[in-house]
Amino acid sequence: MSEERAERGRPLRFAIIGAGMAGILSAIRLREAGFDDFTIYEKADQPGGTWRENTYPGIACDVPSHLYSYSFEPNPDWSHRFSPGDEIQAYFGGVARRHGVTDRIRFGDEVERCEFSEGLWRLVTKGGHRDEVDVVIAATGVLHHPNLPDIEGLDAFEGSLFHSARWDHGVTLDGRRIGVVGTGSTAVQITSALVDRVAKLSLFQRTPQWVMPQDNPAYSDAERAEFRSDPQVLGHLRDDLSRLFAENFSNAVVDADSPQMKMIEDTCRQNLESQVRDPELREKLRPDYRAACKRLIVSPDFYEAIQNPNAELVTEGIERVEPGGIRTRDGRLHELDVLVLATGFRADRFMRPMEVIGRGGRSLETAWAERPVAYLSISIPHFPNLFMLNGPNGPVGNFSLIEVAELQIDYVLKLVEELRSGGCREISPREDVTEQFDADRVEAAKHTVWTTGCRSWYLDDRGIPATWPWTFDRFREEMAAPKLEAYERVDLPEPGGP
Ligand code: NAP
Repeated sequence: MSEERAERGRPLRFAIIGAGMAGILSAIRLREAGFDDFTIYEKADQPGGTWRENTYPGIACDVPSHLYSYSFEPNPDWSHRFSPGDEIQAYFGGVARRHGVTDRIRFGDEVERCEFSEGLWRLVTKGGHRDEVDVVIAATGVLHHPNLPDIEGLDAFEGSLFHSARWDHGVTLDGRRIGVVGTGSTAVQITSALVDRVAKLSLFQRTPQWVMPQDNPAYSDAERAEFRSDPQVLGHLRDDLSRLFAENFSNAVVDADSPQMKMIEDTCRQNLESQVRDPELREKLRPDYRAACKRLIVSPDFYEAIQNPNAELVTEGIERVEPGGIRTRDGRLHELDVLVLATGFRADRFMRPMEVIGRGGRSLETAWAERPVAYLSISIPHFPNLFMLNGPNGPVGNFSLIEVAELQIDYVLKLVEELRSGGCREISPREDVTEQFDADRVEAAKHTVWTTGCRSWYLDDRGIPATWPWTFDRFREEMAAPKLEAYERVDLPEPGGP
């Protein structure tokens, strides 16, 4: 099989890992580019990635739905400006079905190991299935390994306990005492959704957050009918949203002194001052760092929710978890029936724990022993023909990861084109180019708002933001065409050669 595959002109075979937003996108784009020999490996039994895993009450996307859609699959039927999670999950499932992607997914088959040898990636799944492919596209997502906090006594809790991304829908919430640990985007959405249903909601805040107000109106039937009948209207809406996001947000965060950044800060401050009535609570909710240093929370109703008589903002540190609830450092026991850990994700894992072995037996675990590094967040030196979507140090933030993935897959396909027609068998970024890119990235990161004095999942172990530190326009320019001189190629042997 290996010899046959080394021949020039044979159609390339692909493995896509992950059937979330980026995996579905990859399959569609591969087909459009004329590649039909691919399998999507998915560890779960449904597509949808993060939208399959996160089903907590109140889940919605805080990127406008008409921007958080594939450019080639606008959806005139979004219910709200920021639509709920189940709608988004249904959207991805629908796109996968319509594009004939679903029946190319091997569900419930997690790739455990990928090894590159003799020009091929050899895959082994947990179920023992084996595959050999020319190209691997890792569409494994960013935030999917729950971060379980190191809090004493968690195991001793006698109520129901789960992470926000592993919501136990069998647990009754109505009329019960719920504790939520964390104040990130997830905890805020849960708080707003549950506060009216429960006997008491205790929100355990370690760090306050700036909150950007944002209305979430429903689209009327008339608006949806117009979107349906006139695709141009939808197209313009999407273009406007994309431009607004880039100008007002994406560009602001990479220039901490920009007027746009100041506007975001003023809006958040004004929101806190005008919406929180009790001065003591207001001070507890007031961060001591700049807005957008941590990922900005977008919420129409969090301040209202936390002022509900059912809600309590607990700012005393957590001492330990006990069978009956959480004991805070002031000695008080907060009695709870349900404890939700909205404590975020291990953002540096990416495709791990999959074992990935590159050229010459190099393991990804070793290559990333210090921290994940990748050229343009897409590829790794000595791991040829392996491409990541939404990989390390790429653009993340309050904008659409779909837009990011679409730009990345088009870039990847241009590299793949080198494999198809460029007489090249292996392509991977040069080590020196990758090192220089990373050094430039780290330098540029010093001027972003993410380094202005807060703890967040954007920061690596050195406190350097592990994100794209330049403007979104610059990302777009980089993605427009690969600089082939940045890549190391192994050419195919000449026909008839040794
Ligand atoms: P997160 O932003 O990482 O927040 C985790 C929270 O848990 C923080 O408040 C953190 O406190 C707290 N925490 C962690 N360990 C703790 C401990 N040992 N004791 C006490 N508190 C602890 O996680 P997330 O809210 O799940 O959001 C993660 C990301 O997912 C977001 O930033 C966003 O990118 C994405 N997301 C998006 C949406 C959306 O609408 N598009 C919705 C949800 C999530 P500290 O702040 O003190 O560290």
